[in-house]
Amino acid sequence: MSRKLAAVIATSTAAVLVFGSLIALAVGRSNPPQPTVASNVTPMSPTPTPTPTGGDTGPGKGGADPDKSPGTPVGNPTAAAAAGNKKVLFFSFDDGPDPVWTPRILQVLAKHGAHATFFELGKMQAEHPGLREQILAAGNTIGSHSITHPQLTAIPAAKRHHEIFDGPTSKCFRPPYGASNPKVRADIKAAGMVQVLWDVDPRDWARPGTQAIVNNILHHAHRRNIILMHDGGGERSQTVAALDKVLRILKSQGYTFPAMNC
Ligand SMILES: [Zn+2]
Repeated sequence: MSRKLAAVIATSTAAVLVFGSLIALAVGRSNPPQPTVASNVTPMSPTPTPTPTGGDTGPGKGGADPDKSPGTPVGNPTAAAAAGNKKVLFFSFDDGPDPVWTPRILQVLAKHGAHATFFELGKMQAEHPGLREQILAAGNTIGSHSITHPQLTAIPAAKRHHEIFDGPTSKCFRPPYGASNPKVRADIKAAGMVQVLWDVDPRDWARPGTQAIVNNILHHAHRRNIILMHDGGGERSQTVAALDKVLRILKSQGYTFPAMNC
């Protein structure tokens, strides 16, 4: 569980490579995977190769995420070799914890013997005590998604520091909207965390319909990818229903779903 990967990525491609490295590091361990990192990352466990893609559309923001790049998961060859190219997928849920949706997602994960990583907002944690413990008790992990979900690349340094250093306790940090830059990455690293993005964004936050979310994931997910979904920021019944469907299908294809080592 230590983060250790120091990868520097300047471009999204680089980001992908980084992820791969993380994975490689993680692979040797018994822990779960690790997140995607954009820049200096230190991965922790066995892991994923994420590609930052989509937009994490946070609560209230619609659509335009800076970081929506369709992820093309490319893995770092070294990492892939180390990882053994196992059929694992890393599901992640942003913008919670939410008293209605988080428990429902936990139920679906448990039903399929799956685990995931929840990138939480400090504000939501404070408003809904107890959910964090519930998530962890079920064998999942928690990442930080800042305190109030600001676009970290567009706020003053002091505010940025506060959002990164004083948010949820974790070894993984996913910047809102996937919006990052060297200053953001430096703060994340200084706070003792690694930046974790994602490879597949099925855009569940836009509520395109359960089947559209399912199809998007099935068409884009490759082994060791990190998949972005949301347990907060709005009505998530489509996310819950889609998760139930994709886990059943992917499980039948031989995939397993570990939580990232955060
Ligand atoms: Zn978000």
